[in-house]
Amino acid sequence: MTNIAPKCVLSPIQQAWLQELGVDRRLLADALPTRLALEPTPASIPASDAAQGEPATEVQQSRLVTTSEQRAVPAQPLSSLPQDLGALRALVADCTQCGLHAGRHQAVFGEGQVETPTWMVIGEAPGDQDDETGKPFQGRAGRLLQTMFQTCGLSEQASFYYTNALKCRPRGGRAPRQSEIVTCLPFLQAQINQIRPSAILVLGWLAAQALLQKKTSLEMLRGDVHTYRAEHGDIPVIVTYHPAALLLKGQYKAQAWRDMHKARALLC
Ligand code: SF4
Repeated sequence: MTNIAPKCVLSPIQQAWLQELGVDRRLLADALPTRLALEPTPASIPASDAAQGEPATEVQQSRLVTTSEQRAVPAQPLSSLPQDLGALRALVADCTQCGLHAGRHQAVFGEGQVETPTWMVIGEAPGDQDDETGKPFQGRAGRLLQTMFQTCGLSEQASFYYTNALKCRPRGGRAPRQSEIVTCLPFLQAQINQIRPSAILVLGWLAAQALLQKKTSLEMLRGDVHTYRAEHGDIPVIVTYHPAALLLKGQYKAQAWRDMHKARALLC
């Protein structure tokens, strides 16, 4: 019996994104278990709506401030936090444990499927639009992230919950301080314990440092499947670039594509 591979037709916007990534047919053939049918890209569609620069507020968050004046103290021990997600959200909404509360419009707790999603996506800190809407991954970086998920097929196989390592926006887009990350971390750990994702996708070095506690570069963390030890068991973790960094540095897009494919293959 002849085994005919299913045909995968890429939309023009998917093709545009792949062109931006520098992903060619040979790489696609290695990555996807389907025959590809590339349709001509209409001239009216831009090469990418992603490569227009990065909001300063998100770029600056890619560097963690570690000055000696900050003393890192968790907001509360993880064991003392509510076991109910609604109660935890309310606690975060009223939190004043670090100085970021003074500059926020609202805390950005998280959004998405709250019961055992396939992926928990963890970014670094809310941006300006997140702060205004109360939802994570708004703005251009968030739109780029959705395009990436759709293009690599991740969104078809998965449900998602989105959050950040920090729940409040650093005012003026400054880099988060280590003390702020440490203070806020128990909230993220409690979210993971309660939401119980099948896997975690960490976006950016700062978030990776917070979650994995490994003092190494983002480049060293990428490519491996790490493990996060949650209350209910081990969760596989993949680390890649924050989409805001991809908006600024297009040369990282091909590597991000590989990371996304690795994520897609992880739970197949
Ligand atoms: Fe509390 Fe975290 Fe907001 Fe700081 S960033 S005020 S620890 S919720």
